Amino acid sequence: MDFLAIAEIFEEMHKTNSRLVLIDHLVTLFKRTPVNTIKKIIYLLQGKLFPSSEGIELGLGEKLTIKAIAESTGISVKEVEENYNKIGDLGETAKEIAKKRYQQTLLNEKITIERIYSTFEKIAKSLGSQSQIIKLRLVSSLLNDATPLESKYIIKFLLGNLRLGIAEYSIIDALAIAFTGNRNNRKKIEEIYNIYTDLGTIAEILFKKDLQGLTDLQITPLKPIRPMLAERIIDPKEGLKRANGKVALEYKLDGERVQIHKNNTEVQLFSRSLEKITNHYPDIVEAIKKFSIHNCILEAEIVPLDLVTKKIQPFQELMHRKRKYNISDVILKYPIKVFLFDILYLEGNNLTQYEYRQRRGILQSIVKTNRNNIIELVKQNVSSNLNQIEIFFRKAKYEGCEGLMLKQLDSKYRAGAREFLWMKLKKEYGTTLVDSFDLTVIGALLGKGKRTGYYGALLLAAYDKKSDTFQSICKVGTGFSDYDLELIYNELKNYVVDKKYYNVNTNLKMDIWFTPKLVIEIIASEITLSPLHTAAYGLIKENFGVALRFPKYAGKIRLDKKPEDSTNTSELIQLFNKQVKRNKS
Ligand code: ATP
Repeated sequence: MDFLAIAEIFEEMHKTNSRLVLIDHLVTLFKRTPVNTIKKIIYLLQGKLFPSSEGIELGLGEKLTIKAIAESTGISVKEVEENYNKIGDLGETAKEIAKKRYQQTLLNEKITIERIYSTFEKIAKSLGSQSQIIKLRLVSSLLNDATPLESKYIIKFLLGNLRLGIAEYSIIDALAIAFTGNRNNRKKIEEIYNIYTDLGTIAEILFKKDLQGLTDLQITPLKPIRPMLAERIIDPKEGLKRANGKVALEYKLDGERVQIHKNNTEVQLFSRSLEKITNHYPDIVEAIKKFSIHNCILEAEIVPLDLVTKKIQPFQELMHRKRKYNISDVILKYPIKVFLFDILYLEGNNLTQYEYRQRRGILQSIVKTNRNNIIELVKQNVSSNLNQIEIFFRKAKYEGCEGLMLKQLDSKYRAGAREFLWMKLKKEYGTTLVDSFDLTVIGALLGKGKRTGYYGALLLAAYDKKSDTFQSICKVGTGFSDYDLELIYNELKNYVVDKKYYNVNTNLKMDIWFTPKLVIEIIASEITLSPLHTAAYGLIKENFGVALRFPKYAGKIRLDKKPEDSTNTSELIQLFNKQVKRNKS
C-alpha cells in the first residue's frame, strides 16, 4: 500500500479540529487498507509498532534524525538545525528541505507502508555499539526515496510526534463504521478493548470476520487489561452513602501500580499505562514463579522500602528500578514490597465478574498458601461507621499511605472504567487543600541564589483532549527538596526545546521550554478563575481560564503517566463546580 496516499490523508487530518471529520478520514483510510496491512496501520496510528505490552519502542532522538535529514538531502547538519529553529517542527523542516532537493528518478524505490514498517522495526530492534550508525543508514535511505510529504510523516513517526489528534476512541469509532457499518457498535468493540488491549488484532479480526469474531478474544494471561480506576470523593460520608451504608476500606499505598500476569513458567509485569515493566522487578518475577498457581492475573501496588529499617519510602525511590543495567545490584540496594489488592483471573477462570468481596477472599487464600518475603495483601477493613473510617484513614496516613480506597463490596471489576465503585479519599481531606493534580511541565524559570544551576519555578499545564494542547494552569516553586530539584532538573534536561512547543498554549514568558513529557503531582488549595492562564479558557467564564492557588509540589514525578493522562480540562471543570458547591454549603 502506497505511503503517499496515507500521508495525504494525514495532511488532511492535521487541518481539522473536528472529531467527526477526523473519524471520516480514518474510515476512508481503513477502507483502502488491505487486510494484511491493517494491523500495521493501527499500531502506527497509535504511535507504535507493536502493542505496548511487547515493550518494543521506536523512539529516535532528535539529533540522529537531524543527521539523517542532512545526509539524505546533502546539506549540512548546521543548515538543517537553522531551518528547524525557524520552522519549529522537524517533520515540517524535513518536508521544506526535501521540497528544494527532491527529484523523482527511476532509481527511487517506492515507499510503501510495508517498507516503512519493516524499516522502523529494524530501527527499534537494533541494539549495541553499532546501532546509531545502522539507524542513521536506515532512516536516510528511506528519506532518500521519499517525497517531501512522505518525509514529513516519516520524521513525525520516528520522533513519536505524529499528533494527528487521534484518540484511541476515535480509532474505535472509525473501526465500527468501516468494518461493521454501524457506529453504535463502538461500545461492543470498546468492551473487548478494555480486556484485550491490542487494537491491531481487534481491527484485523473485525476486517476478516465481523463483530461476532471478537467474542473469541477473552481475558488472557500475558495480555494486559485496562485498569479499573477510582473517582475522587471529598469525605468518608460521601463514600458511605454511595456504597449504600457499608464499604470496604483499603490502604491507598503510594507506589507504582502493577498488573502481574503468570502463564505457567512465564511471568510478565505491566504498568498502569500497560507498558511492560518486567525487567525492573526480577525479584517480583521470582516470587510469583514460586506461587503454586499455573496462571493468574493479579493487581498490586509496589512500594519502595528502606534498606535498614524496612519502612515504606517515598514513591520516588522506585526510580532506581528503572535503570537498564546492573539490576541485580539495584535489587539489593533498593528493596521493595508488593501489596496485592485484586485478582482478575485464576486457573482459566475470568474473575472480573465476581463480586469484590469474593475476589478479596480468593486473594486472601492465595497469599496464605504462598508465603514469601516481598508479597503481601493490602490492609483492609469493612465498615459502616463514619468514626471507624476516620480512624482507619488516620492510621493509614500515619503509616505513610496516601489515604484510603473505598470499594463497594458487591462491585465487579470494570476494566477501564472510572466509577464510584472504587473511590479515593486522599490525604488532603480534612486539610485546607482541595486535591492533587497531575500536571505536565511545559516551561521553567532559571533558579537564582540557592537554586542556581537548577530551575527556580516550573510552568505546569493541564491537558485538553479536544484540541490536543497543553494549557498552562500555574507556576510552582515550592515543595521541592534539594534532591527533588536535582532529580527534576536531570529528567527535564532531556526535553529542552528552543522555543515554546507547538502544542503548548500559554501567555507566560519562560526562560526554558520543554516538550510536554514530564508529569508531576501538585497539591493546591483552590481552583480560581484566571485571566492569565489558558487551562479551560472560556469554558467556565468568558475570557478567563483557571489557575491553581498556592500550588505545591507533592514530591512525586509521575513516570507511570503519559502527558495525555494529566489532569484534563473536563476534570478541572468538574472539580471547580464541586468546589463552588462545597463553598456554598
Ligand atoms: P487514577 O489512577 O485514578 O487515574 P492516579 O494514577 O493519579 O489516578 P490516584 O489518584 O493516586 O492515582 O488513585 C488511584 C491509584 O491508587 C491506583 O491507580 C493505584 O495505583 C493506587 N492504589 C494504591 N492502593 C490501592 C488499593 N488498595 N486499591 C487500588 N488502587 C490502589
